[in-house]
Amino acid sequence: MPGDYDIEYCSPWAGADYSPSLATRQWMKISTSPSTSKEAVEEIGRRATALEQNTWPVLEKLARDVPEAGLQFQEMRILIREKDTSSPTADHLISLAATPRSKIPPQIQSLVDSIKPVPRHQLPPGFTSGTSATTISFNPTLYLPWLASQCLAQNCTLSRALITHITAAASLHHSGSPADVVVNCTGLSSLTLGGIEDENLFPARGQSVLVRSEPGYIVSSSGTDEGESESANIITRAGGGGTFLGGCLQFDNWDGNVDPRLASRMLRRCVEVCPELVGKGQGTEGLSVIRYGVGLRPLRRGGVRIDAVEVEGVKVVNCYGHGGAGYQTSWGSAEEVRKLVGRALERTNGVGHD
Ligand SMILES: Cc1cc2nc3c(=O)[nH]c(=O)nc-3n(C[C@H](O)[C@H](O)[C@H](O)COP(=O)(O)OP(=O)(O)OC[C@H]3O[C@@H](n4cnc5c(N)ncnc54)[C@H](O)[C@@H]3O)c2cc1C
Repeated sequence: MPGDYDIEYCSPWAGADYSPSLATRQWMKISTSPSTSKEAVEEIGRRATALEQNTWPVLEKLARDVPEAGLQFQEMRILIREKDTSSPTADHLISLAATPRSKIPPQIQSLVDSIKPVPRHQLPPGFTSGTSATTISFNPTLYLPWLASQCLAQNCTLSRALITHITAAASLHHSGSPADVVVNCTGLSSLTLGGIEDENLFPARGQSVLVRSEPGYIVSSSGTDEGESESANIITRAGGGGTFLGGCLQFDNWDGNVDPRLASRMLRRCVEVCPELVGKGQGTEGLSVIRYGVGLRPLRRGGVRIDAVEVEGVKVVNCYGHGGAGYQTSWGSAEEVRKLVGRALERTNGVGHD
């Protein structure tokens, strides 16, 4: 539940921000195997892009009009080293900026309008170019409870239970009657949850450090010399939430413990690319740590699963497998779930609920 910190609950450990095209690239990349057709991979990309693009307008409205939700507009700087020559996010932004205005999907027009090069004097040592855009960052500490409060405001009943089979969820409805539909959004746990047991799921471990200083912009670096699974990622959170320092994507690693050596590499890298994190002339000793964290992103070969199925007579709408992009595809996913639940209820009750 919002407010909890547990290795089986990914959301509180996220940065988090809207990093254009990340879902699209990530889901296409992990879904590419000799047995997957080119068309299938392209379809995964199209779906991911639609979820991302349909999420942006809602986030934009929340960041603009609902300060208590814990979102804010923030400049994202994608910094590129000479040896990396490019970064997929920067390449994507540059190609969007070069696209005629009439061909840009209207949902993301405002994001595209903000794309520009990072001025030379803002590049840290070792970086030769950069691209920036105004995106949105989340403070999960505020945003997740705010989402729960929106449910309570609609008179939803929230309660806790650990289930071992998806059909058991149908008997947990507060009315005492069986639920008409169960929405399964158990993230990585859908790998082992009875009735689902989706073997396409696997973790991508992300370690992070939350610090008190607030440089006020997002940094995403093109790479490091310390391995493919590591980079520098810095996100200042809204509402005095401090700054998330991250940059680690370790596939198939289930370790929920903080690796102190990785933590110190991350701190050093983040201070190198963003000296504003500390006082003038200081190194990592100038950082004030709030918390170290580890989260397991729920990656899924085939991309996110959003569909309606029947399990032992129980109608189930699945929505899981969002990998490292669950925030930035959330509202697009929720809209698909809403439609599927509406159709399932229509079949049960004979009335439309769209
Ligand atoms: C370090 C890090 C950085 C990230 N940065 C970003 C970012 O910048 N932008 C972005 O969009 N995304 C980011 N993500 C990814 C994002 O956090 C995830 O995609 C998202 O949180 C997944 O949400 P979820 O609701 O599907 O899963 P979860 O948050 O894991 O929620 C699953 C829920 O199901 C419950 N559950 C599971 N099993 C059971 C059971 N058997 N019985 C009852 N309840 C159960 C859990 O308790 C939990 O409440 C990041 C993740 C990490 C770790």
